[in-house]
Amino acid sequence: MDYKKYRVPTKGKINLKDYDPDDSSEFDGKKKDGQDTLLKLNQEIEALQEQMFAEGKRRLIVLVQAMDTAGKDGVIRYVFEGVNPSGVRVAAFKAPSAIELSHDYLWRVHAQTPGKGEIVIFNRSHYEDVLVVRVHNLVPQEVWSRRYEHINNFEKMLVDEGTTILKFFLYIDPKEQAKRFLARVEDPTKQWKFNPGDLEERKYWVEYMQAYEDVLNKTSTDYAPWYVIPSNKKWYRNLLIANILRDTLKGFNMGYPEPPADLEVYHKKLLEMTLSDEV
Ligand code: AMP
Ligand code: MG
Repeated sequence: MDYKKYRVPTKGKINLKDYDPDDSSEFDGKKKDGQDTLLKLNQEIEALQEQMFAEGKRRLIVLVQAMDTAGKDGVIRYVFEGVNPSGVRVAAFKAPSAIELSHDYLWRVHAQTPGKGEIVIFNRSHYEDVLVVRVHNLVPQEVWSRRYEHINNFEKMLVDEGTTILKFFLYIDPKEQAKRFLARVEDPTKQWKFNPGDLEERKYWVEYMQAYEDVLNKTSTDYAPWYVIPSNKKWYRNLLIANILRDTLKGFNMGYPEPPADLEVYHKKLLEMTLSDEV
């Protein structure tokens, strides 16, 4: 699957209007085929993640940003289906606590970055500090406008020190969001997810899209690029991200760690032990 066109270039300016949230053009097949392909990718990702955990060398951040209902939780659930929970963790960034607010905005983020062998999924991230914070004027413009540069430097430091960063913006349109809110209200298994406050947030759609455009244009770098993921179709969204993740993990060219010395001697001994009751 060719996903180059969803990668935000580091030079020039993109306009979100040039992306189609309904797009599914890079997959040659129907929804069902897409879902079947995802199941195969899940198995590959599972095996690669197991190897990453065993190897204990690389670190990976999978960062997901989006408007409400675009599918942050869905991506976490369906793309990471089957991975070993020992090596994968979700860090969800909510409105900051009093302690978090008493530090700089990157403090809580740095604390959640992966250790060796670990994948950490960022459900929201430091980008909230130039998104919701900007849209609601939680700090003055002169404060948030400096943050793009901090963020680029922060991510550069992480990458220099051996962390890989994938950044996904799940792109839906307002009509699709309305449908999904409606589904939350109508479906008893989804009602718990419905937050009337989200409807207030929706009124700032245009401001959010402006803020996202700035994020994409200012912080897509060669070392930590953004992908705009068309997300009106959930299966396509999951498939794209799974492909990018699989290829990234494959690109690590991992091997399993060296086994202990004298493995053959142990093998012989163990074969004998299976034939005897002695310890
Ligand atoms: P949810 O992900 O639906 O549980 O909601 C988390 C909420 O926390 C969202 O409304 C975010 O906009 C908000 N949030 C996350 N990070 C920040 C931040 N740095 N400052 C203010 N609000 C934030
Ligand atoms: Mg929410």
